[in-house]
Parts: sequence; structure tokens; C-alpha cells
Amino acid sequence: MIHKHTMLEADMISRRYRCAGKGQVYAVNNLSLKIHTGECHGIVGESGCGKSTLMRMLAGMETPSSGQILYKGEPVALQMKRKRNEIQMIFQNSMNAVNQYATAEENIGEPLRNFTHMNKVERRQQTAALIKQVGLSAADLLKYPAQFSGGQLQRICIARALIPRPKLLITDESTSMLDKDGEDEVLDVLHRLKRERKVSILSVVHDIDFSVARWDRIAVLFGGRIVEDLPFGRFLEEAAHPYSRRLIESSLFFSEK
Ligand code: ADP
Ligand code: MG
Repeated sequence: MIHKHTMLEADMISRRYRCAGKGQVYAVNNLSLKIHTGECHGIVGESGCGKSTLMRMLAGMETPSSGQILYKGEPVALQMKRKRNEIQMIFQNSMNAVNQYATAEENIGEPLRNFTHMNKVERRQQTAALIKQVGLSAADLLKYPAQFSGGQLQRICIARALIPRPKLLITDESTSMLDKDGEDEVLDVLHRLKRERKVSILSVVHDIDFSVARWDRIAVLFGGRIVEDLPFGRFLEEAAHPYSRRLIESSLFFSEK
């Protein structure tokens, strides 16, 4: 039975890849996880521990080798087939996620052209409203990707991801290539969306930094398994796995506590 506040639930999922010379490797190994409505759930883990594989499966973009993932009680893969996919993903490299030769307006408006019956005027109004939601102005709609900073471009990607009115935003190291200001801009936008639109956030990072202060839960992924999953306020005291303790000891955020 699904808990009434559980939005997304992974039950004993694994993902195997064939790897030259090594046979099969498990990128994700018998992992269970629940994402709750309205929360920001953060997952931290070193490079290669299976974060992106896990996120792709949770978004329904990749099928687990075994186990199942339910979104609101139905197989998550069905979301991909919906016109209005309630799970949207924001990637690390925003430059790859946009068309460099198209303006911000064209980049944001592309799903509107493809998935709605809006005419040009309606699309223009909608893209102007969306770009304001992410803290940019209507004048920015005429600019090309190269004219934006990394943080601004990441916010353009968020504006576009809002078109299907998502209930869950998955961010895969989305701020790891940004400077501190860019990171703050993006996190401010995401957490405003969480407050105002009740969007849940699943955020993956490779290192504990000050952004974790905004998380409601913190999970640690190590070698394809969840080794810790605690409410944020209990993490410092209760995290028990040796890798979690190492993360805490090497983090500026927790060492100041
Ligand atoms: P992370 O995002 O934490 O860096 P990944 O999920 O990208 O980790 O990768 C986890 C492991 O799975 C790595 O060992 C990686 O080499 C392997 N892997 C990921 N995707 C593939 C793939 N498509 N084919 C083969 N191996 C893969
Ligand atoms: Mg990754």
C-alpha cells in the first residue's frame, strides 16, 4: 500500500550494465526509496555511485533491470507517454539542453508549439510569464543562449520544464558547473517553486555544500545503494554509515554546526 504522502516509490530496483572485461556491473543495486509530496529530497554521492542512473529510472526514462517504480501508484514509465509529464528533469549542462541557435523565447516556447494549440500571441504571453517566474525579464526572451550566464541559462531550462506543470522536478547536479551566485539564483528559483507551486524536488549532488540547508531529507548513495536516508534535522546526529560520517567530517556546512 502506498503511504498517502508518498509521491514516488522505488521498490528494490537494480540496474545492470554490461561492461567490457568486467561482465555485468550494478550501477544501482536493490535500492528502495520514497519521495514525499511537497518535500525537497536531496541525494548525495560520489562520482560513479549511480546517481544519474537512479535519476533516469525515477524519471521513467530508463527501465530498471529488476524491481519497480510507482508514481502516484502507477508505473512511472507511463508518465513518459503523457502529454503532461508531471516529472521533469533538469540536467547538469544547460548549454547541451538548449538550442544555441534559437532565442530564449524559441527555446522555452518549443514545447508550447509541440504540445498545445496556442497561437503565436498566446505563446508569446505564456513564455513571457514563464521567464518572469524564473526571475528573468520579457526582454531576455530575445537573447540567445550564449548571451546568458550559466545560472540564467539553467533558469531558462527550468522555465521550459514548467510548461507541463510538473509536480516533481529532478535536478541532476544542476548547479555543479555554476559559480556561487549562479547556484544561489537557481536554488532560489527552485525553492520558490516548491513554496508557491508545491513542486517537490529531488536533488542530486556529489558533495555536501551549503545548498543542503534547504533540504527536507538527505539520503546518501554509495556503490549503487542508499546507505542513509534521514530527515535533514537528524542527519548530523544519526547518520551511521562510515561514508556518511566521512561526508559530514569533510563538509564545511556541518563542521560549522
Ligand atoms: P553518477 O551519476 O553517480 O556519476 P552513473 O549513474 O552515471 O553515476 O554511473 C554509475 C555506474 O554505472 C558507473 O560505473 C558507470 O560507468 C556505469 N554506467 C552508467 N551508465 C552506463 C551505461 N549506459 N552503460 C554502461 N555503464 C554505465
Ligand atoms: Mg551523474
